[in-house]
Amino acid sequence: MWWKDSITKLSGVGIKRAADLERLGIATIGDLLYFYPRQGAYLDYSEVKTIRDLVPDGSKQLFKAKIFRINNVNRGKRSFVTITVYDNTGYADLYLFAGQRFLGRKFKPEDEVLISGRVKAGRLNKMVSPELLQAFDGDGTTPGILPVYSLTGSLTQNVMRKLVHEALTIAEQDLPESLPKRVLQKTNFLPRTEALKNIHFPVSKEKLNKARQRFIFEELFLLQCGLLYYRQGMEAQRAWQFANDGIKVQTVIKNLPFDLTDAQKKVWNEIAQDLETSRPMHRILQGDVGSGKTAVAALALVKAAENGYQSCIMAPTEILARQHFETLSNYLQPAGIKIGLLVGGMHKRAQSIENGVCSSGDMELWHDNIAVKQYKYRDDLLQDLRNGEIDVLVGTHALLQDDVVFKALALVVTDEQHRFGVEQRAKLVAKGEIGVHTLVMTATPIPRTLALTVYGDLDISKMEGLPPGRKPIKTLLYSEQQREAVYKGIRHQAELGHQVYVVCPLVEDSEEVVARSVEQVYLEMKETVLKGISTALIHGKMKSLEKDAIMTDFANGKISVLFSTTVIEVGVNVPNATLMVVENAERFGLAQLHQLRGRVGRGTEQSFCALMVGTEDSEAIERLQILASSEDGFYLAEQDLRLRGAGQLFGLRQHGLPDLHIADILRDTDIIVEARKMAQECVSNDTEREEIKQLVQMQLDERFQMIFNS
Ligand code: ADP
Ligand code: MG
Repeated sequence: MWWKDSITKLSGVGIKRAADLERLGIATIGDLLYFYPRQGAYLDYSEVKTIRDLVPDGSKQLFKAKIFRINNVNRGKRSFVTITVYDNTGYADLYLFAGQRFLGRKFKPEDEVLISGRVKAGRLNKMVSPELLQAFDGDGTTPGILPVYSLTGSLTQNVMRKLVHEALTIAEQDLPESLPKRVLQKTNFLPRTEALKNIHFPVSKEKLNKARQRFIFEELFLLQCGLLYYRQGMEAQRAWQFANDGIKVQTVIKNLPFDLTDAQKKVWNEIAQDLETSRPMHRILQGDVGSGKTAVAALALVKAAENGYQSCIMAPTEILARQHFETLSNYLQPAGIKIGLLVGGMHKRAQSIENGVCSSGDMELWHDNIAVKQYKYRDDLLQDLRNGEIDVLVGTHALLQDDVVFKALALVVTDEQHRFGVEQRAKLVAKGEIGVHTLVMTATPIPRTLALTVYGDLDISKMEGLPPGRKPIKTLLYSEQQREAVYKGIRHQAELGHQVYVVCPLVEDSEEVVARSVEQVYLEMKETVLKGISTALIHGKMKSLEKDAIMTDFANGKISVLFSTTVIEVGVNVPNATLMVVENAERFGLAQLHQLRGRVGRGTEQSFCALMVGTEDSEAIERLQILASSEDGFYLAEQDLRLRGAGQLFGLRQHGLPDLHIADILRDTDIIVEARKMAQECVSNDTEREEIKQLVQMQLDERFQMIFNS
């Protein structure tokens, strides 16, 4: 079918243009047709204004003008471009900042341009960051509504419009419906081809709206079908049924360095019950940062071992995997559970035999107990795993590799799930001989509708509250002028023998973004304010061995101040750390800042979080004040969602689901509920299931499809 044909089949698409399109995620003709114009950016020619008619009410407006003058302005660190334009009714000023400045070079005086933007109240004829388009042939006389697409490289609006136009001509001849008959009968959506035509080249605003409604529904519906279908497939499987908690589980509980909280006990009950049936568990454990999810995971892992099966726990970073290995070793050791660690970059034994250094010392003992080994060689570990000599395997993505083979895998735990996706989970689960129990742990609490979308295939366990004895973290905002005070605070904490994180949004300085990079901040501070104090730098571009050495030194207290990017965002547990400094805090989401802040306040000392604010924007400051006022992760996630939108915070791709192209989880909650209901009807109906399966496979992107094949 032509839908999956390469975009190069369209006229005028050569290698270079194909590469530009590829960067927009468009590889096939179908991709192009589902590359929707930017919402709210359509150019409605019935509404082209003159400069005199522009209304300073913050609404989006379109006008045509000629360029009068282009100015490059340099003010200290900030540079921007102003373009003055005119028509025969007056002049207007356009302000263009980073990312848009190139427009100053693209145009020259007397060029005719179309401008679309907003005039804020009180800013007569001034537009900040408007959209600028070369006025194209025949404009002004072209009737109707024209689409505006996101562009990259040398693509122009006109090129995109021509390509889409050609693709629509093909679609007109032969395009199957993408919604099942039942849905079309029950609703009054536009047919697919008509909807496609109207989303790209609407004949009216009403038709555009109807087309959008259809595609929003379609996207959410097919996604729900996919998830339900996946779940159904899993439920049809049988899993190993575990017995009631026995001596090993009880030993681990008894030997934990603390008593389980009521919340931990409650969720453990829910999990244990699932494990004691022959239906595979599919459960997500939601618990705020620091709520003690690791201990709950440990119980599930020991329960598997007690029943004679293997289990594994996957963490998103090597730092976290190593930390889990150590913690779990401590927790599980009293019950004699054998535990191994698998991370990327481990050596093969063969290499070192050649070098003649193979000896019995190759197996380093992590603790004095033989149950806890740290394997030096990957082959040794994999062999023991295959033979069933390892009960619990801890690791990173390395666990997904094909040669990681278990003898009897019965339980998979993934930690900080928002870094893993459905398809990665599916890959691990497929390593079991029969159905495998899955437990997904996350510190990102999510509202219900969102849960329906991203965790549509899972049951939810909520762990409320934190273990006793935590002191609230004091969170304060600092402006640039108060930087000295923050430096003093860092020194002070270090001199008290406590530890400090300094987190920056960027690794290196960048031309594009006005924010402090971790390299720059590190260089600035280590020889000045922090002279004599041990410091280190860590970021994602470093080799994992290097990172590991630094994290170990930090955990052991050899490093007092750690400069980092968000690589330390999730999971890291160093109870002696008492101060978290975040540079350019405005560049992070609330939920992410909450995660970062969760790195401190893990011990008994009073902890602090200092947010350096690099902007005077009142909205940004208000947002950060919300963080200062609350430590409730659930509340913060909801606020973040409200303020920044679902796309920002919960990129679906992070959850391993296809990104939504047109639906919006926040805005379209009603449609999600409706789509799920219809999906349930369709998927549970035997005669329709095949139809759905085909539709879903045709529509959803390849990564998602693998869950249907597993
Ligand atoms: P998270 O849920 O963020 O993964 P962790 O499992 O890392 O949290 O636990 C955070 C800290 O709380 C750890 O230092 C752990 O030892 C401690 N902790 C966990 N459960 C309890 C408990 N019941 N009582 C006291 N401290 C606990
Ligand atoms: Mg954790």
